[in-house]
Formats: sequence, C-alpha cells, structure tokens
Amino acid sequence: MYDLIIIGGGPAGLTAGIYATRLRLKTVMLEKEMVGGQIAVSDLIENYPGFPSISGPGLMEKFEEHAKGLGLDIKFAVVESITSEGNIKVLKTTEGEMRTKAVIVTTGAKPRRLGVPGEVEYTGKGVSYCATCDGPFFKGLNVMVVGGGDTALKEAVFLSKLAAKVYIVHRRDQFRGEKIQLERAEAAENVVFLRSHILKEIKGATIVEKVVVEDLKTKEVKDIDAEGIFIFVGINPTTGFVDVEKNDREFIITNKEMETSVPGIFAAGDCRDTPLLQVATAVGDGAIAAYTAEAYIEALDDKEPRTMKR
Ligand code: NAP
Repeated sequence: MYDLIIIGGGPAGLTAGIYATRLRLKTVMLEKEMVGGQIAVSDLIENYPGFPSISGPGLMEKFEEHAKGLGLDIKFAVVESITSEGNIKVLKTTEGEMRTKAVIVTTGAKPRRLGVPGEVEYTGKGVSYCATCDGPFFKGLNVMVVGGGDTALKEAVFLSKLAAKVYIVHRRDQFRGEKIQLERAEAAENVVFLRSHILKEIKGATIVEKVVVEDLKTKEVKDIDAEGIFIFVGINPTTGFVDVEKNDREFIITNKEMETSVPGIFAAGDCRDTPLLQVATAVGDGAIAAYTAEAYIEALDDKEPRTMKR
C-alpha cells in the first residue's frame, strides 16, 4: 500500500517524485519503457533555466539522479486501469495490482500520425518520428520534415547537419514554432521550405524513395526524392487508461492545483490540458501536484492538511 503512485517518468513525474520523497510520502514511480519521457529523445534543450544548452537525455539524467538520490523508487510497469475502492485507488498493471491513497498521472504524449498512404507501411523503413534516434541513418541523403511547430523546426535544424538536403513541408505559410527556431532553419543552407504544401503519399520499393507533395496554392502535385520522412505534426496524450474528465483532444482537465475530476487522481505535464508544453511548465506542474497530493493524503489520514506554500 503506497501513499502515492506517480505514473510516468518524464520531467513532471520526476519533479513530483523529488517533492514527494522530500514530503516523506511512501511513493513509487511507474514507468513504461524509459525514464525521461519525450524530452529524452530531444537533441538540444536551450530554454530550461540554468542550462543554456544541454541534450535532452543529459537533462533527464540529472533529473533522474536527483530523484533517485532522494530515494525515489522507480519500477517498470504499464498501468492498464485505475479504479476506486472507497478512498483507495487500485491500479491494474502489467506487473500486478497496486494500491495507493493517491495517484499523479504524468504520462505525457506521443507523436501524432499524419494518416497518409505509405506512412504505416514505411515506418522504420524511412518514416520516423524521432530525428535524434534515426537521423544518423540518413547522413548525406535527402530528408523531409513535415510540420510547422517547434519540434519540426528544431529537428529540421538538427537533420540539416547530417542530411544533404532537408525539405520542410508545412501546410501553411506561417509557422507555429518559436521565431528563434524558424530563423535557425532559414539560416541553414541545405533547408528548403515548402510552405503551403502537404504530403500526400510516401512511395518506394522496400524502403522510402520518394514522396508526393501538393502545393495548396497552385494545386501542383509533384514527386520529391527523399529517403527519410520525419513527421512532427503534434502530439496525442497518453491518457486512455484513466477515467477522468478530458478535453476534446483527450488531454486531462485539471484545476490549478492539478486536481482532476476524480478525488485522489492528479495530473501534471503534457498529458493535461495546459497552454504550454515545456520542461519548465511540466516541472512546475509536478511540484504543485505533489503538494496537492500530500494535502489530500493528510486529510484522508485525518491529519492536519498542509496548505500550499506561497
Ligand atoms: P505543435 O506545436 O502542435 O505543431 C504541430 C504542427 O504540425 C503544426 O505546425 C501543425 O500545422 C502541423 N500539423 C498538425 N496536423 C497536421 C496535418 N494533419 N497535416 C499537416 N500538418 C499538420 O506540435 P509540436 O511541434 O510537436 O510541439 C508540441 C508542443 O511541444 C508544443 O507546445 C511545443 O511548443 C512544445 N515543444 C517545445 C520545444 C522547445 O524546445 N521549446 C520543442 C518541441 C516541442 P498548423 O500550424 O497549421 O496547425
């Protein structure tokens, strides 16, 4: 029986773990595959205060070391469902049933699929959702990045250092990503912008050889030779296993204390409905969630609840 189970080991989860261990809650963190979350496959982080430039894995190693140094117990298991038995939450996991007084969901989000012909067929054969993981396979070759957000722009710059040519295909003229990322992509000599273009189909024999794109303004459809297709068209939250109120895109709705619609279940980081998906904001969410969870547990235990520190 735990006081707190944290589901997910990204920045929000590890921060919640750091705070929970210092609040002396009997806590376990459950992680599916790799501690660090999405950010651990990010090439460079340049907007986390105190670290002007650090790799995603490097930053997450520091978070993990910090949490483990305080005694956070991290186990590998996939949570399939959460049910309530009175005030107790029962988690069905791949490693068996676990019981706890409170849960913080910090399961983040996964890359969204584009849904074009060839995408599924060529995944792992030229289609990728992670430039840091797969970029080196395309050294000296032509690649295409799809999307206009921070991820697309950042990863295009990363790929421009490896690939012969990087096409950025974006469905609008304006980019959603940070201006600094756009400026860097524009400054790279081997980056070709295909604004107001969409990717229609991915083709090849056994691996990707070319893509079909359409110019939305002229309606011209043409083939482009590219061996690697990197798709960065947003993210979907990993929230299917938890039955709490969510928005129309399946992000968990919380109040500013990170409470969900179910007492005892809290959510933090990219899996919740938040205006900004950043390491810095996930960290803030994680700290708040741990404090709110502690107050909830104290009230359950009939001790005087701690009030939020201001
Ligand atoms: P995002 O900001 O949601 O951008 C997704 C992009 O894909 C948009 O440009 C969108 O076009 C395009 N798109 C979506 N569906 C599409 C479709 N069906 N066909 C073609 N294009 C499509 O996603 P993200 O870049 O993965 O970023 C997710 C969050 O993480 C954001 O909040 C971002 O700021 C944050 N992030 C931050 C950093 C950082 O270093 N600060 C790095 C990575 C991510 P439209 O613009 O036309 O909608």
